[in-house]
Amino acid sequence: MINGLVKSFQPYRVVEGNYRIWLDKNESPFDLPAEIKEEIFEELRKLPFNRYPQIVSLPARESIAEFYGLSVKNVAVGNGSDELISYLVRLFEGDYIITTPPTFGMYSFYARLNEIPVVEVPLGGDFTVDGEAIAEQAKNARAIFIASPNNPTGNLQPEEEILKVLETGKPVILDEAYAEFAGRSLWKLIDEYPNLIILRTFSKAFGMAGIRAGYMLAGEEIVDAIYRIKSPFSVGIMTMTAIKVALRHWNLVEERVKEIVEERERLRKALGGLAYPSDANFLLVKLDAYEGLLKRDIVVRKLSGRLEGHVRVTIGRKWENDTFLEAVREIAGGDLVGGL
Ligand code: PMP
Repeated sequence: MINGLVKSFQPYRVVEGNYRIWLDKNESPFDLPAEIKEEIFEELRKLPFNRYPQIVSLPARESIAEFYGLSVKNVAVGNGSDELISYLVRLFEGDYIITTPPTFGMYSFYARLNEIPVVEVPLGGDFTVDGEAIAEQAKNARAIFIASPNNPTGNLQPEEEILKVLETGKPVILDEAYAEFAGRSLWKLIDEYPNLIILRTFSKAFGMAGIRAGYMLAGEEIVDAIYRIKSPFSVGIMTMTAIKVALRHWNLVEERVKEIVEERERLRKALGGLAYPSDANFLLVKLDAYEGLLKRDIVVRKLSGRLEGHVRVTIGRKWENDTFLEAVREIAGGDLVGGL
């Protein structure tokens, strides 16, 4: 009899099934080319599978540190950036975390899992953060989470607003999962602001969501603190090897980012007034099209709350985007301004 003993949590759900077009998880539509996979396999062949991975992920941290010209002491690696979020909600002293809805759900998911209260400072009408409003709520905050570009709205957050939040001195996690598509990152501010934590991932622009590799850039003290609480072997040799090899191929990532951004802009134009501007690899679309798209074998992200009646669509391959547009045209009918 375990009735009443298991705590009840709202699970993190994704759609599963045999659909043709998947534009729901902001993945890259491009898999790694076979040659790069081979390079990863070659490296892996040399490694002993019977041994645990290096306990504080040094091989991967060294590759990332070298890429940025930082010290390994400024880099922590996680099994996806989600794992790092699960630590960051707990790492600091204070009563609650601050989030800025509508935003990425995992900040409040992990906070609630750890019974940490969440104070919400909603985004403004144009989906930008209000630095002063956040600062007003920051007094007893453990940490403040800001995504830039934000998911699911797609916009970069203004630097001056982020600076206002950093000036509170509270730990600020700037989640830049989509920064490569925006062409802007504030990672260099970690020198000036020891309370800034930059969160990045290999799941989006690098096209390695299946590998589970995320990282953060921050001051030495914070990185050191992470490694005091982190699951010791959560980043395996496959993830570390993939990171090392992927960073050798930054030029390919840049090419693909360019292609995705071009497709994003093409799609946005075609959607006319239905799509919001985006600095990421997805578009927020003001159309209650989730069911209609699913019927046409296209999976997108259904949004709720303030974004009820909106969907978030990941930029896919050209043919996928065309199929999506065709379906939207059928669903929206006369509402679709512009067109291909
Ligand atoms: N941050 C944001 C804003 C995201 O959208 C995502 C993925 N959907 C993540 C972090 C997590 O990425 P991962 O765990 O794959 O690194």
